[in-house]
Amino acid sequence: MLKKEIKTTCSYCGVGCGIVIKKDNNDKVFVEGDKDHPVNKGMLCSKGMNLHYVANDTSDRILYPEMRWSRSHPRERVTWDDALDRAASVFKTMIKKYGPDSVAFYVSGQSLTEEYYIANKLTKGFLGTNNIDTNSRLCMSSAVVGYKKTFGEDSVPISYEDIELADCFLITGANPAWCHPILFRRIEKHKEENPNVKIIVVDPRKTDSANFADFHLQLIPGTDIILYNAIARCIYERGLIDEHFINNYTDGFTAYKELIFKTSVKQAAKQCGVPEKLIRKAADIIGLSKGFISMWAMGLNQSVIGTDKNVSLLNLSLITGNVGKPGAGPFSLTGQPNAMGGREVGGMANLLAVHKDLANAEHRREVAQFWGVEEISPKPGLTATQMFDALESGKLKAIWIACTNPSVSLPNSHKIEKAMTNAKFVVVQDISHKSDTTEYADLLLPAAGWLEKEGTMTNSERRISYLPKEIQAPGEARPDVEIFCDFAQRMGFRGFNYNSTEEIYDEYCSMTKGTNIDVSFLNYDRLKTEGTFQWPVPEYRHAGTPRLFEDKVFYTPSKKAIFNVPSSIENTAVKPNDDFPLVLTTGRVRDQWHTMTKTGKVARLKTHYPKPVLEINPVDAYLNNIKDGDITQITSENGEVRVRAKVTKNIAKGVVFLPMHWGKQLQNTLNRANNLTHTVLDPTSKEPDFKYTRVKVAKYKKQ
Ligand code: SF4
Repeated sequence: MLKKEIKTTCSYCGVGCGIVIKKDNNDKVFVEGDKDHPVNKGMLCSKGMNLHYVANDTSDRILYPEMRWSRSHPRERVTWDDALDRAASVFKTMIKKYGPDSVAFYVSGQSLTEEYYIANKLTKGFLGTNNIDTNSRLCMSSAVVGYKKTFGEDSVPISYEDIELADCFLITGANPAWCHPILFRRIEKHKEENPNVKIIVVDPRKTDSANFADFHLQLIPGTDIILYNAIARCIYERGLIDEHFINNYTDGFTAYKELIFKTSVKQAAKQCGVPEKLIRKAADIIGLSKGFISMWAMGLNQSVIGTDKNVSLLNLSLITGNVGKPGAGPFSLTGQPNAMGGREVGGMANLLAVHKDLANAEHRREVAQFWGVEEISPKPGLTATQMFDALESGKLKAIWIACTNPSVSLPNSHKIEKAMTNAKFVVVQDISHKSDTTEYADLLLPAAGWLEKEGTMTNSERRISYLPKEIQAPGEARPDVEIFCDFAQRMGFRGFNYNSTEEIYDEYCSMTKGTNIDVSFLNYDRLKTEGTFQWPVPEYRHAGTPRLFEDKVFYTPSKKAIFNVPSSIENTAVKPNDDFPLVLTTGRVRDQWHTMTKTGKVARLKTHYPKPVLEINPVDAYLNNIKDGDITQITSENGEVRVRAKVTKNIAKGVVFLPMHWGKQLQNTLNRANNLTHTVLDPTSKEPDFKYTRVKVAKYKKQ
């Protein structure tokens, strides 16, 4: 018999669809789209509609803590007391011997806000190090910096409801048709109902998003900024800039104008590989639109010039005055369900909670005072890949990895595995043995998963949802906040003896009072009874804020938005050469999620794209003597991959594509895209460049 319906939020992507759970008396769950939810209005994509398989199948779950005393022994089952006492003992020893910067936490955009908050409070406030970073570093840290440079703070200005009010979309470095499907469905429906709506997609691959678009600008990877600047120049020359907006609400236009006039449109077209006619057409559509939305994701962010790409794209919204008005604005898409929540609580090595900056002494003092600690260390913490570099070199001794699978997801996988092997102590806290990273754990801790714990998340449009606990976690698995708080108390820290997760959320909400992300009037009761809210919610009766900057007052010292001139305009870090003549770009497929620890369990999700394949242009295939279906060996300076070739005109000449999801699912790692990727970072955002690794490709010959 089915019990009452329960409302929650999908645990996959940052779209944040509402889900209705129905549960039978055996705690077996069934999922449906929530018809009343403002995000999805009842729709779910293939991943979301199969979530019940993941929740009901516990065959892969980590059920109890396991520990090994030395690397030559296998892990054995231990009690929670033994596990956390050992963790506390090792962390105390390391800190005493080598200082607080010898330990680190690496967390996840899938962590709930309360978990993110507690892990940051523990690390930055009490362990005395800023060595806490997140896998969200890999997907959106360039967007965070872009927003801060342009608007003065990390602030996504618009909402999904603006989609239905816009008449022009520039989707760039993203394939929402596959990676944010319900969001894309809203765009499709809007266009179907309003044929005047125009969609421009910029991507080296002809994706499903590009197929639906009116115009596909298939650019050469790394030339995005040149393209945006050329579009800006055309908009200017056609007299389509918004002079009133520029003159009254922005700074820095003169320097930007000089930059966009340095390159002719003809020259830019040649550099980008996009016909000049198409650039001019795109500029006209954007310049003449009443509501222009730019949307982007990893294709822009995951680059050695990711920050520059972000500010350059944001500049297009500024010259056309498309900020702070209905149906208009820049809209970065988050890949993970709570990447945004992590940003709110300072979930990165360079941030502090409530959008404060670690580099700002006053901000450090305010946060220290709130937590009742003497100080927050001014030393910047290690970011995601830097942590693993430091483990490899021996500078970092112990790492606690929660809810993420760096073996498969970080660039240069062999280096990551070497780093974890070299570490003195690795804690892995996760739900599933399917994570390849569990192999490296000296201490393995079973965590509760979706529906097994309560907390909150924030989606791409700043919408906060409450997720209830509805089923019992299997075995001895515990919610992540409980594990962190228990560990903190064993370390001897006060301020972690919460009676509930709700108390943690209340503490965070009170910290936001008077800030630009004020949710001090929110609490679990309101979220449970009134539904979701978009921050800020600065008064008790406030219904939330769908759109920022409607008053054209920005968060910068001058209160104006800033035109930033990028320091680099082209990806020149590691150009292809004679030895490695092709550019590898990696990405996602429609029905898989991250490293497949959850979606890989669902048989029906394997039918769409059963195995990883190398997408290669017919010209490159011919030059390398490769036919469709051949097994190819792809080699970079870091490693190799062997998969079958898919010869297709959908990818630009000179570029090859591999999906990033696969790890050891085929009992070896020759299908793992990150064997190849390099660890080059954006110097400002520290986001790795997954979109531009030089490789060579050959038909595989058995030795
Ligand atoms: Fe879940 Fe994203 Fe699909 Fe919505 S679009 S159902 S949030 S995976």
